[in-house]
Amino acid sequence: MNIWIVGTGYVGLVTGLCFAKLGHQVWCIDQDKTKIERLSDGKVPMHEPGLPELLHDQLALGRIHFAHEYTHLHAVDAAFIAVGTPPTERGEADLRYVFSVVEDLAKYGTPGLLVATKSTVPVGTAAKIRERFDRLGRSDIEVASVPEFLREGNAIEDTLNPHRLIYGVTSKTALTVLEAIHKNLASPVVVCEPPTAEMIKYASNAFLATKISFVNEIANICDRIGADVSQVALGMGLDPRIGPSFLRAGLGYGGSCFPKDTKALVNIAGAVNYDFTLLRAVVEVNQRQRMAPLYRLLNWFEDLAGLTVCLLGVSFKPGTDDTRESPSLDLARQLVAHGATVRMVDPVVKDAKVPGCGTDLSVTCDPYEGLLDADAAVLVTEWDDFLHLDWQRVKNLMRHPFWFDGRNVLDPDRLREAGLVLANIGRGVKP
Ligand code: NAD
Repeated sequence: MNIWIVGTGYVGLVTGLCFAKLGHQVWCIDQDKTKIERLSDGKVPMHEPGLPELLHDQLALGRIHFAHEYTHLHAVDAAFIAVGTPPTERGEADLRYVFSVVEDLAKYGTPGLLVATKSTVPVGTAAKIRERFDRLGRSDIEVASVPEFLREGNAIEDTLNPHRLIYGVTSKTALTVLEAIHKNLASPVVVCEPPTAEMIKYASNAFLATKISFVNEIANICDRIGADVSQVALGMGLDPRIGPSFLRAGLGYGGSCFPKDTKALVNIAGAVNYDFTLLRAVVEVNQRQRMAPLYRLLNWFEDLAGLTVCLLGVSFKPGTDDTRESPSLDLARQLVAHGATVRMVDPVVKDAKVPGCGTDLSVTCDPYEGLLDADAAVLVTEWDDFLHLDWQRVKNLMRHPFWFDGRNVLDPDRLREAGLVLANIGRGVKP
């Protein structure tokens, strides 16, 4: 099949390369000319395991092409929209990039083209896209919703072996094209109407976010009653009705999806006069949870003015350089507001744009450099690089030995043996 992927970010690039690997001819289109030039030269603009090798292979095989315009493209079977849908001030998904692509596709799309959204879009968007194509005289174009579930850091595996494929379609023709594109994947398929497909995506992310906020609430109670949330989660997760994933207490979720999708679903519900009380609480708990280290530090030091705090981890999770909605940035902003000097360490993120912070904070990839003369350290992102430090060396480098493990991944005994003071989340361990 000949496929366009419009929007060559985390989702678009991975999807395009995986479709190429499945044997299709793929054109990735992006308005960012520099990105397109770099990709054409074999350079991957983000950190994602396996992506440079996959790009190299598919360029060599001649199955992947990059363009910033829709020129010299013809006889295309399907176009996947993978542009961003960032939140507006009010928390709704901003669809302006999606609709701008729709205008382009109406202009350049070949007759009978299937246009499918991979971007996460509010329920009813496929219908709005349909209306726009009709208005633009393109009733021949098919519209479908094929939501994306890949996880950054594991994106290639998730795309080649998805847990499920959701085809939100309104015609047999659209279904046939989607089946042909994915025919070499052995995943379960759910065929439904586009609004249902759109809702499956939001409901899935909202549910996972709920699990995270739930276990964080349990952790906060554990802290107060002397129970260990790690063991509570282990005991809960062994029940197959609950399952172990997304039950690790920590500083809450971040990234480009959960924060915006939870808020968008609250808005989607609000637009039909439904108050999604539970999800509103999930969002509130998550925001509060990010500040757990701040309160613990204030408790310990009373005043943070003049102190140096080292934050380990800038990306919102390990395995990616994505810093969108990263708890680390929120925490950095609050620490700076309390008069602390913040140093950041990350193995792949090179600079940290902290909103409301005035200047960008510098980021080093060397934890020992970041910890030198620091008064406190907070492990925010559980990169492997931070888990097995030379704790004695760390103790000798720091001015004060205070550590906060924001992901409950450090071995308390080893840190304490080295003379460090360790606080964590919900493990009943007090500094
Ligand atoms: P991204 O910001 O990394 O990439 C979006 C790309 O679209 C950018 O390169 C931008 O230049 C390009 N673009 C914007 N307008 C364009 C236009 N008119 N024409 C051509 N290109 C245009 O975004 P992302 O993280 O890949 O997310 C894309 C969508 O997929 C979002 O709706 C997101 O919610 C959803 N999603 C993301 C993930 C994830 O893990 N990142 C997972 C599942 C779903």
